[in-house]
Amino acid sequence: MKHPHTRRLSTTLLLSVALTAAIISGCYRLHLPTTSRWLCMGTTVTVTLRANQPERLATIRPIVAQALTEIETDLSIFRPNSTLAIINATAGHGTPILLSTNAANGIALACHWAAVSQGAFDPTIGPLMNLWGFRSKTITEPPTPHSITQTLSRIGWTAIHLHPATATNPATAHLTKPGMHLDLGGIAKGQAVDLAWHRLRLNHQTDFLIDLGGNMRVHGTPHPSAKGWRIGIRNPFTSQDHLDIGTIILTNGQAVATSGNYEQYVELNGKRYTHIIDPRTGWPVSGIASVTVVAPDATTADALSTTLFVIGPQAGLKLLQTLPGCHALWIPDTQPISPITSPGLKLQK
Ligand code: ADP
Ligand code: MG
Repeated sequence: MKHPHTRRLSTTLLLSVALTAAIISGCYRLHLPTTSRWLCMGTTVTVTLRANQPERLATIRPIVAQALTEIETDLSIFRPNSTLAIINATAGHGTPILLSTNAANGIALACHWAAVSQGAFDPTIGPLMNLWGFRSKTITEPPTPHSITQTLSRIGWTAIHLHPATATNPATAHLTKPGMHLDLGGIAKGQAVDLAWHRLRLNHQTDFLIDLGGNMRVHGTPHPSAKGWRIGIRNPFTSQDHLDIGTIILTNGQAVATSGNYEQYVELNGKRYTHIIDPRTGWPVSGIASVTVVAPDATTADALSTTLFVIGPQAGLKLLQTLPGCHALWIPDTQPISPITSPGLKLQK
């Protein structure tokens, strides 16, 4: 999924430079969106504002960067000193680990989605991610059924012991079984976008779009007469922009996220396996190329896109009926492309 304003920026920029040179003085003022882009949490973050507002970036960019860094510091499994890494290193020790508010929220939200999805979303998926070579890339063929069964005994979100903060004590968490591993890769980017979004609102910022590696949340509109922010939905079988399968319009603080099988996968014995694993079987999910979710906030969109990837359209459409404001689009991994959408998703050409 890409954001059309930012996607077409480079071409439009060239055009604008050429026009300015030809006309010499500023007779025209092109309405380019104001954009800032940098790297964070292993992906690209893009903040987009209305046209001609570069002065706002000096305030906005540090607020967003601070929020994303806070989540990464607590919840990254790639940082040896993150709270999550400490919880993982002490799994089975019975020692409660003190949590910041962000860490406690992240683990609580992950457990919430594990319960709602009846375990299809499972933040203890870590050992299976390792087994399938997503953290080391040293394997060349799929793991044996025996090793999958053994690893499944270390998966299960109900073994997360989370004690929320009280008036007198901070929140704590620990994993009850040795060898367990929390991995919040299916939700942390959404949580980070929501934290940044709320901080910008506390700062009275309006009319912006935050995009963290395809996890997006908007406020207001890109220009005064727009209905909302127009977002292109990528065709999972090609990365060419003009072949996007359509667009959706986000309004009123809405968020969107996509889980796909095309960016992160391992190739074993010549076959591709995607990075979303079904915790009920221990196998990477097959049959779905991508799932896009529109939701009232970015954490919901992120967790739900992973969940709906695992459970597929049949069970997913039923689950969506219980989640107000949530809509989805599945693209099965078969050609010709034949998207399945929930009733509330308005895909435009
Ligand atoms: P992306 O990270 O590309 O945005 P997703 O939001 O769908 O994609 O998250 C995929 C990540 O979620 C994986 O890399 C892994 O960290 C984690 N994950 C994989 N399978 C599950 C699962 N069944 N439940 C929860 N998290 C999962
Ligand atoms: Mg997700």
